[in-house]
Amino acid sequence: MFDELHEECGVFAIYGSQDASVNTALGLHALQHRGQEAAGIVAMKGEVANFHFADGLVADNFTSQKILKKLEGDSAIGHVRYSTAGKKNARNYQPIYAELSHGFLALAHNGNLTNALALRKKLINCGAIFQSTMDTEVIIHLIARSQKNSLKEKIIDATSQIEGAFSLVIIHKDGIVALRDPHGVRPLSLARLGDSYVVASETCAFDIIGATFERDIENGEMIIIDKDGVKSLKPFEPKSPKFCIFEYVYFARPDSVIEGKSVYDMRKNIGIQLAKEIKIEADVVVPVPDSGVAGAIGYAWQSQIPFELGIIRNHYVGRTFIEPTDRIRHFGVKLKHNANVTAIKDKRVILIDDSIVRGTTSKKIVQLIRDAGAKEIIMLIASPPTISPCFYGVDTPDKKDLIASHLSTEEIRQMIGADYLGYLSIDGLYKAIANTVRNDENPQYCDACFSDKYPIRLIDKIGVEMPLFEKINNDQK
Ligand code: SF4
Repeated sequence: MFDELHEECGVFAIYGSQDASVNTALGLHALQHRGQEAAGIVAMKGEVANFHFADGLVADNFTSQKILKKLEGDSAIGHVRYSTAGKKNARNYQPIYAELSHGFLALAHNGNLTNALALRKKLINCGAIFQSTMDTEVIIHLIARSQKNSLKEKIIDATSQIEGAFSLVIIHKDGIVALRDPHGVRPLSLARLGDSYVVASETCAFDIIGATFERDIENGEMIIIDKDGVKSLKPFEPKSPKFCIFEYVYFARPDSVIEGKSVYDMRKNIGIQLAKEIKIEADVVVPVPDSGVAGAIGYAWQSQIPFELGIIRNHYVGRTFIEPTDRIRHFGVKLKHNANVTAIKDKRVILIDDSIVRGTTSKKIVQLIRDAGAKEIIMLIASPPTISPCFYGVDTPDKKDLIASHLSTEEIRQMIGADYLGYLSIDGLYKAIANTVRNDENPQYCDACFSDKYPIRLIDKIGVEMPLFEKINNDQK
């Protein structure tokens, strides 16, 4: 699967570093897979805040000496964002910031709030003036309006009112606050770099700056980092864990370790489990790059069918490449992928991908393999059918556009033109990732896009009328 689902954000924070902004830019670069549309860094030197925001990639916008000099400070937070085409809005850059009674505060958010529209309505009715269409902005307003005394209490007061998925980093004149929602939907980890403390969405952001992983920030935990070191609080009522199982399937980088599990190992386990569930004769196992690679390695290892790179990806086609014109549109998929004929001609090919979202890309890939002379194409998916959209921070198409929500596996097979199509079972997914049986009453992970069972109530989805704005896309971050 590629070009179809997008993680919306990655966050990074560092406290007590002479090179805070450079380290933040590097950390965001490592988190670039979580969002490529825009990035932002806010650095603080004493009470002075310095910031820079830009559309596009971190490496293109945050590496010049001029920018990094401007971002002077010994602590910093940063954010990478994805938003679908047409939803781009300059007001939606993060970190989002404001001048509050306790001074300057900036905040970066990974996840999606499920009651942001309801809160926004209330706040607007009380006179609040919103500057963006981001759900995250309600958090700033709630902090600003809190009647509590200390900033710590104000942040707890504000975040106790929000629901949904939120891994947050906050910067203010005295330090950094990091916070993970009580269900722990999105990842957030803590590391050390010499005397500095670092927080990031994924551990791959620690590796790039040479920071040493300390631990994951726990569900519902708030970490306060300042001149006295790190303080941990558990201000929220505990809730059952609902980590996003799709982080293991697709979103997180394979070299990250989340909740003590190597993402790469989990993806290989998924491939192994897939081979145990679907035994089929074939000549080669071919991954759809890059999303199917680890799963295909696992499948090939378990099935003892040779692994081959039957599709080669062109790594130099970025998002900025010209859109195909009508005259060359039929080359579509070939801009990014080409069949490696030597590896697949006259062979029975098991093609492994991590998921099918709309089905349009899978159809093109199957055709690519067919045109290269494959004798048989067996498409195996290293996850259960994706039947429902995400409301917790991943940009998914509407349910009607998710092919598995309205077509059977046989109908999808016919649509994509494969000779066989099979998916991993949901129980198999739990077995591969947690070596456990799924608790159907109270699943150990959020798996709503496979089960349609949403573990956190969707207040905004059931309809809250928005004043002032026709429609707010609260999934823009
Ligand atoms: S709905 Fe899917 S993508 Fe969203 S948090 Fe749950 S498992 Fe993850």
